[in-house]
Amino acid sequence: MIYKRSSALFQKAQQVIPGGVNSPVRAFKAVGGDPIFVESAKGAYLYDADGNRLIDYINSWGPMILGHAHEPVVNAVIERSKKGTSFGMPTALETEIAQLAVSMVPNIDKIRFVNSGTEACMSAVRLARGYTGKDKIIKFAGCYHGHSDSFLIQAGSGAVTFGTPNSPGVTKGTARDTLLARYNDLEHVSEIISENKDEIACVIIEPVAGNMGCIPPQEGFLEGLRSLCDEHEILLIFDEVMTGFRLAKGGVQERLGIDADIVTFGKVIGGGLPVGAFAARSEIMSFLAPEGPVYQAGTLSGNPLAMAAGYAMLNELNSRPEIFVSLDKKTEYLHNGIAEILDQYKISHTINRMGSMISVHFGETPVTDFDTAAIAAGGDQFKIFFHAMLEAGVYIAPSAFETWFLTDALTYDDLDFTINACEKAAKKLA
Ligand SMILES: *Cc1c(COP(=O)(O)O)cnc(C)c1O
Repeated sequence: MIYKRSSALFQKAQQVIPGGVNSPVRAFKAVGGDPIFVESAKGAYLYDADGNRLIDYINSWGPMILGHAHEPVVNAVIERSKKGTSFGMPTALETEIAQLAVSMVPNIDKIRFVNSGTEACMSAVRLARGYTGKDKIIKFAGCYHGHSDSFLIQAGSGAVTFGTPNSPGVTKGTARDTLLARYNDLEHVSEIISENKDEIACVIIEPVAGNMGCIPPQEGFLEGLRSLCDEHEILLIFDEVMTGFRLAKGGVQERLGIDADIVTFGKVIGGGLPVGAFAARSEIMSFLAPEGPVYQAGTLSGNPLAMAAGYAMLNELNSRPEIFVSLDKKTEYLHNGIAEILDQYKISHTINRMGSMISVHFGETPVTDFDTAAIAAGGDQFKIFFHAMLEAGVYIAPSAFETWFLTDALTYDDLDFTINACEKAAKKLA
């Protein structure tokens, strides 16, 4: 395939946008080469600036669970926009989507809408601190909760009790309040809690991790976190920005049957428009302004176009729950197809999957946390795989630390096409 016009557009973009992109992972730095510029998309397909058709496994990093330019969502936005695009005043639509979301997700009474997953997680942590009167938070290495200061902390070698900033601009003071734990390592969490007795406001986690590839929680891990949090009066925050309305109608809380204290949303909840949200039981949410003292606000929060898109999306997922079953089956089919090819070409690999989230890792080690994900991503295999897939017309995330997202718009022919592309890639890897 030819990507000439995309490369030319990238050259131009770099002159006026840092790195040519408005979010770093789009720039292909992890895999090399120039990013693809999109012209349009429909269903499971992207059409780029050079006129290539690509099967899309990013789907805007999750939101497009029903496919691109999905008609009910597009129509909702068109119709709503004719009535005005923003008021900074309440609308009935906000209550309708709130009621719908609360009815779909277990264990929440109230929800507040914001404009991104980052905002949702940042606000959830502020609420947890306000509610508990404690300052410190525990997060897991390799989990992503957006780009606000407290979350940009990466495991330093050895002593991980006190985080160190991994981005210049994050102050030492902020980093000190973020404690880092290993994913799937309950004992480590327990140690950190004992070393910081009565100081920890919350544990925030991706209950199925998707930002270091897909890493499901091991048996008992989330249950163990729940008990530790109860025992020490710590709030458990599930960051379901990626998993919410994707792994089940009610997200991981429903799928794995574990209750969190605060849940954050993004991606699917906006149907492709900029929306985030956080939710909890009434006694926690009542701490939020204007009802309570914890401040949080937004000029465009609850924006009518965004709420219309989100409502149309949630409404469809709510009325057609069989979508989740068919997505799971398609993902399993893809998993089996890819595994068979890689086995056939004797390429050692691990495929992690839950629901419609899946990732392919190369190497012998099972991928269960950030360290093992980093080992698997260490060689050149992923880069070769990525470019071979792209050449064959399949667009997967341009980094080994990302999940692939399936959309219901994918047909079994598309999946076969993808498995076939995988065979071409396997030949290059073998
Ligand atoms: C994408 C993501 C975020 C950040 O959401 P943005 O809308 O990009 O700010 C937070 N948490 C998780 C788990 C995510 O996948």
